[in-house]
Amino acid sequence: KAKRSGDRYLFYAPTFNARASEQLTLETRLRRAVEREEFTLFYQPKVSLEDGAVVGLEALLRWNDPETGLVPPLRFISLLEETGLILAVGRWAFHRAASDFVALARRLVKPTPIAVNVSALQLRQPDFVRTVEEAVKACAPFGCGIELEITESMVMQDVQQSILRLKEVRELGPAIAMDDFGTGYSSLSYLSKLPLDAVKIDRSFIVDMTGDAESMSVVSAIISLAHGLGLKVIAEGVETEDQSERLRRLHCDQIQGYVFSPPVPLEQVLQILTRAQNR
Ligand code: C2E
Ligand code: CA
Ligand code: CA
Ligand code: CA
Repeated sequence: KAKRSGDRYLFYAPTFNARASEQLTLETRLRRAVEREEFTLFYQPKVSLEDGAVVGLEALLRWNDPETGLVPPLRFISLLEETGLILAVGRWAFHRAASDFVALARRLVKPTPIAVNVSALQLRQPDFVRTVEEAVKACAPFGCGIELEITESMVMQDVQQSILRLKEVRELGPAIAMDDFGTGYSSLSYLSKLPLDAVKIDRSFIVDMTGDAESMSVVSAIISLAHGLGLKVIAEGVETEDQSERLRRLHCDQIQGYVFSPPVPLEQVLQILTRAQNR
């Protein structure tokens, strides 16, 4: 049997199981979601541990599914990647982040840059640099409002090509952060070769920090290493004041996490920023 799905034919045997069927449904729904622009971006503040200022935002993708409501990326990002749909969604995310940055900047004393998560497939596209350039240009009246978050694994697929492409992007203005730091191949040799401005310590290290001396040592070592390379350090998934205080003592630069705010819609982040800037 052959069933049409998008512009491909999917062939399957009678053993076709329920799980695969579920996937197919999700894929069909995701294609429709792209066409109908059912995606939205939530924003989570990054807070300076030096003075408590909100120094940046991370854009996090949400799917506003008319059938089930707001869906987090865990449920659909990998399928977007497998199907290549991430390319359309990724491009859209850069443009939306840029226009949201401008919308916020118009209403605030200080413009706050927005970091966009990049997928491996996206980085490999020849038009990736142009996408970033367009977003940067859209922010222009208020400075460079776009930053990038990349991961170790996406860079590892083609190190030389990634370095060249990221250098090109960085020359356009955006700062680049290494996401989920410590969870990948921990290719420390690449850390100094990549054009980076910051590393984000993965949440798994932060969770264990309270009452676990070894985790404290690991976090402390990552911070020293990054600072030694001239990089800023952002801790992700910070949920408690205790974690925040420990990170401040270890000279971590910024935190991001529920202790300050979860990812929220644009209108809500505007309120947070307005309050923070009028302290
Ligand atoms: P990530 O880039 O590591 O994003 C951080 C995740 O941690 C987010 O999950 C965020 O909501 C969550 N988080 C933030 N603070 C806390 C905390 O204090 N405690 C806990 N438990 N979690 C916290 P989210 O939004 O579900 O996103 C999951 C992943 O999906 C992201 O991980 C990222 O890899 C991917 N993703 C999200 N948006 C995009 C996008 O626009 N493009 C691409 N390619 N990937 C995206
Ligand atoms: Ca991220
Ligand atoms: Ca992360
Ligand atoms: Ca993470």
